[in-house]
Amino acid sequence: MARIYLDHAATTPLDADVFSQMIPYFSENFGNPSSLYREGQVARTAIDDARLTISKILDCHLDEIIFTSGATESNNLAIQGVIESWKKNFPEKTPEVIASPLEHSSVKNVLEDLSEKNEILVHWCGVSKEGMVDPEEIKSLLSENTALVTIVAVNNEIGVIQPLSRIGRLCEKNKVPFHIDAVQAFGQIKTSALYWKCDLLSLSAHKFYGPKGAGLLFVKTGTEICEQMLGGGQERHYRSGTENVPAIVGMAAAMEISEKKREEEFLRLTKLHLLARDFLAQNFWKIPEKTDVDDIPEDVIGYKWNGPEISDSIKNLENSQNILSRVPSNLHFSLPEISGESFLMRMDLEGISLSLGSACSAGMMEPSHVLTAIGCSFDEAQTGVRLTFGRETTEDNLLFSLEKILEISKNLKMSQGFFG
Ligand code: PMP
Repeated sequence: MARIYLDHAATTPLDADVFSQMIPYFSENFGNPSSLYREGQVARTAIDDARLTISKILDCHLDEIIFTSGATESNNLAIQGVIESWKKNFPEKTPEVIASPLEHSSVKNVLEDLSEKNEILVHWCGVSKEGMVDPEEIKSLLSENTALVTIVAVNNEIGVIQPLSRIGRLCEKNKVPFHIDAVQAFGQIKTSALYWKCDLLSLSAHKFYGPKGAGLLFVKTGTEICEQMLGGGQERHYRSGTENVPAIVGMAAAMEISEKKREEEFLRLTKLHLLARDFLAQNFWKIPEKTDVDDIPEDVIGYKWNGPEISDSIKNLENSQNILSRVPSNLHFSLPEISGESFLMRMDLEGISLSLGSACSAGMMEPSHVLTAIGCSFDEAQTGVRLTFGRETTEDNLLFSLEKILEISKNLKMSQGFFG
């Protein structure tokens, strides 16, 4: 039985075409790009070509891209690098950072760590019950001590898209560096450093059918940032270490392919999203607000929809640009009556891979900080089910998976004694 993979926000399979473009850089073109002889120059040219391809896609200059090992490193470099530089300029002040409560742990944990060491003061802004940041609130939190605003473009759990260009304009006006964690945005929505008016932007290649262990940080010319990795001075001193040439080549190839497929995939995935949403509404029971789990009727499976609704009126990319509040590849709901771990195991046995909360915090049975931030109860925040679709997801395998979710939930509810 072929497995059905519905966890593309955790990672995506490597595109076959990308893989074949990487292979020569593991074998005959193995040179170190810093070497001045022929093998080195072949590797250097490959990196230069990759940088050119990527800069065109992200609407930025060639020398504004720093290759890293992935978005965790990019996010660390962006935050720590900007804070270190700010402290050099204003040694007597405490820098302030504004962030959303929906940040990935590679941002959240860095900010919490710096804050615990009294290096920075963090202002966590609020979000609506759909998970949306309000630019007006960001505006009210800005002060002369704001060293950085950092916002996740698309949240990895509930897929909400933040009003980035509005926040970007605000930061530009106030001369505050703006960092975007765009890991879950690239390949889904237009990802442009220019359009979003950001100063820093992080990406990870394995989220868009590229290799793992490859990422980048866009740093706008003029942004003051201190390097965090000392050594041979690669990447214009911002990131020392011999470049991972096959991975960089693979990341550029994956970006090109994703950009070409973006519109077609967006429309296809929007149809799948709406289909799944309707399946839930017809076959599960939408739990009214403030309802206790014990008050869910016996003969239904209660669910809470998490994140924004996608409008039925989205017909093309152009008309979606202003009204889209969620990436269509993401579907998220809580099943507060159902034990998450048993559910996940049963789905796995049926050959279906999906995620409870986010993969990065899997293993810890703590309620998701994202679901808590959007006002979910403890039970709801512990039983979030995330389906994230990708290129191989079809209508048939999605409907099959939803039927299985319903069947397994009913079995578990019965065996957990909810049916008396
Ligand atoms: N930011 C977001 C929004 C993510 O989803 C992830 C990966 N789950 C990361 C950052 C970190 O990416 P990586 O694990 O590839 O370093």
